[in-house]
Amino acid sequence: MEKATLNIDEEWAKAKKPFRFFGPCSAESLIQLKETAAGIAKYYPETIFRAGVWKPRTRPNSFEGVGEEALEWLKEIKQEFGFKIAIEVANAQHLEKALEAGIDLLWIGARTTVNPFSVQAIADGLKGVDIPVFVKNPINPDLSLWMGALERINKAGISQLGAIHRGFHLSDNGPYRNYPYWSLAVQLKAEFPNLPIVCDASHISGKPSLIPQVSQKAYDLDMDGIMIETHHNPTAALSDKEQQLTPEQLHDVLTKLIRKKKSSPNKEFKNQLEILRTKIDKVDDDLMDLIAVRMNIAKQIGVYKKNNKVTILQIERWKQIMERVLKNGKALDLGEEFINAIYNAIHEESIRKQTQVQNGDSENP
Ligand code: PEP
Ligand code: MN
Repeated sequence: MEKATLNIDEEWAKAKKPFRFFGPCSAESLIQLKETAAGIAKYYPETIFRAGVWKPRTRPNSFEGVGEEALEWLKEIKQEFGFKIAIEVANAQHLEKALEAGIDLLWIGARTTVNPFSVQAIADGLKGVDIPVFVKNPINPDLSLWMGALERINKAGISQLGAIHRGFHLSDNGPYRNYPYWSLAVQLKAEFPNLPIVCDASHISGKPSLIPQVSQKAYDLDMDGIMIETHHNPTAALSDKEQQLTPEQLHDVLTKLIRKKKSSPNKEFKNQLEILRTKIDKVDDDLMDLIAVRMNIAKQIGVYKKNNKVTILQIERWKQIMERVLKNGKALDLGEEFINAIYNAIHEESIRKQTQVQNGDSENP
């Protein structure tokens, strides 16, 4: 696949970092917006004030946002508090209304990112428009979909472009509302190093008690900003009431976060880091060599299986291997999830190699 690149306005990204999106899940009334905005403005006058105008709900008959009327309220909030205003757009009509209302920043929601047709329709409407756009990750953990949506919006000429990591819906999300799968956000950063990535700690956490640790993790991964849903009275919220913070709670969480430095001028630190990193590189080289050795053995087994018309997958043997490596790995203080992930990947690659042998498109070992 062709290496993707994005044309990002780096001056803009640098000037705005960290991006701080605070505000309610949904715009419910002018009073609710004003009270919430006043609470946030006390602590964070530079806020990008977020509020959902049209809410994508899983089931109908839940609160679907007040729609266009809220755009007028948001204009008032912008005037009174001087915030930049951000809303979600999910189709071309939303986009048209948002631009008419002078909204400052747009985001594309997780349920929209999954659909390239919807993203393209929004991208088409953005041609010739100068506005920052943030793209949330798709609901499912598919990095290409996320990248594709960013590329579509970027191709439309939007260079004030960012991503929002809001977690993924898996069959088991553990304690989270949406499983964070941090490595996918890290992979996105590796693909697009100059793309700002904001962590939506609220939709990952789903409850206030998890927001501090999720936010700290985002800081530790050097993310470029944070989104936290804030409501002056969360218990009365019409959507996502279980996860919203009051402005005071928001302030409490943010003041306790520790912002670590990218590096340190300390000589001893630099020397030690270099020595240890050289060791890591050596171990990585050895690991690659060993994996290649293991794959060669798997290929030899593949030849015997082929000649004896035996299936590639031998489930009993696979179970035995997993049992052994889990036992040994755990004794070495490696996490079960990690061992599973590594061995599933190794097993998949072995099967791929043996399939090549079966198909005859690999030289005999
Ligand atoms: C939201 O930000 O309120 C929202 C609906 O988020 P998501 O698209 O991440 O579900
Ligand atoms: Mn929400």
